Amino acid sequence: MHNLDHDDCQDIRDAVRALCAEFPNEYHRKIDEQRTYPEDFVDALTRAGWMAALIPEEYGGSGLGLSEAAVIMEEINRAGGNSGACHGQMYNMNTLVRHGSEEQRQRILPKLATGELRLQSMGVTEPTTGTDTTQLKTTAIKKGDKYVINGQKVWISRVQHSDLMILLARTTPLSEVKKKSDGLSIFLVNIKEAKKSGMTVRPIPNMVNHETSELFFDNLEIPEENLIGEEGKGFKYILTGLNAERTLIAAECIGDGYWFTDRVVNYVSERNVFGRAIGQNQGVQFPIAEAYIEIEAANLMCKKACDLYDAGEPCGAEANMAKYLAAKASWEAANSCLQFHGGFGFACEYDVERKFRETRLYQVAPISTNLILSYVAEHVLGLPRSF
Ligand SMILES: Cc1cc2nc3c(=O)[nH]c(=O)nc-3n(C[C@H](O)[C@H](O)[C@H](O)COP(=O)(O)OP(=O)(O)OC[C@H]3O[C@@H](n4cnc5c(N)ncnc54)[C@H](O)[C@@H]3O)c2cc1C
Repeated sequence: MHNLDHDDCQDIRDAVRALCAEFPNEYHRKIDEQRTYPEDFVDALTRAGWMAALIPEEYGGSGLGLSEAAVIMEEINRAGGNSGACHGQMYNMNTLVRHGSEEQRQRILPKLATGELRLQSMGVTEPTTGTDTTQLKTTAIKKGDKYVINGQKVWISRVQHSDLMILLARTTPLSEVKKKSDGLSIFLVNIKEAKKSGMTVRPIPNMVNHETSELFFDNLEIPEENLIGEEGKGFKYILTGLNAERTLIAAECIGDGYWFTDRVVNYVSERNVFGRAIGQNQGVQFPIAEAYIEIEAANLMCKKACDLYDAGEPCGAEANMAKYLAAKASWEAANSCLQFHGGFGFACEYDVERKFRETRLYQVAPISTNLILSYVAEHVLGLPRSF
């Protein structure tokens, strides 16, 4: 099938594809059924250097850009896997690369590159404030050479498969800042240490095999050297990471989209009902063609977001639009793939129902579709703010 993957990253694409081929759909299905973590797969990606793609060469990584990272994530999903198990490392380490001190970079990045440490988690969302991030209630109060953290987070992914987490907390009360986005700071949390001294982790069973938890902080002390960047500027730093996250998730959805389209095209070409292939009916062809067109369009926007990000240009609009288009396209591809598999779409052994659940998440997380529409309406089109 012709598509947009004939790009500058063909070597990377081929190499990741070859690695993913060693972990067939049966592997990912079993991990999903057992609700376990794809340890072997993530280890293999780390050993091959793919998890260190964004780490500069002087810290042991390969110094690639978001464009290459996006190809890695896309290929994992396109092969039938779920990048959700490991994508956190990509965008979190980028926050450290861009905003961490030299001391932090030297202390952490080489260990991430070898796989000695994992930085898979980012703690932003809170139960009482949701998407209204600047209202978050978790506080970090400076006491001597430490920050003391109190509060609660929800839906924080991969804490049980990560050594480090980036945490967003308020260091200056809302009443004392000019802009509501001021006074927030980001910290590097050593998860194992934190669990022994003030952080409680409560896993949330959910629809996908996506390990995610509630976190409770009760006087957790963090050494001041774990503050990333300047105190009070954390929201700005998190936004850079969020643009990378949205773009990478767009790439994953594009990978899902191609997986669903390949699957359904093969299936409807083979499946005979009423004496002919069901794929001969335009009622079957058109939804598949429509989803495919949208995947290709999303791919173009994703590439644009990657190029801008790698050039250090603003890319908020493109990252959000790429994520919106890709999540919508993969969902439509998922829906027609399930529909045209008929009853077999529901059988676990076809993997369609698993991928259907996995791709559905991206209408809600890491940012819901409505909030992207709101961003474009207000920040791109200049419409009056609704909140
Ligand atoms: C499996 C999973 C993993 C996650 N991992 C992480 C993680 O690692 N780290 C992290 O920090 N968070 C994580 N999240 C949280 C995720 O980012 C949020 O769930 C998401 O941003 C939506 O926030 P919320 O759930 O609080 O919904 P809410 O903010 O309560 O919104 C609920 C719904 O209302 C709509 N809505 C809200 N306000 C408006 C408005 N003004 N106009 C129109 N519609 C509106 C939203 O679009 C949404 O559909 C994860 C979530 C899930 C489900």
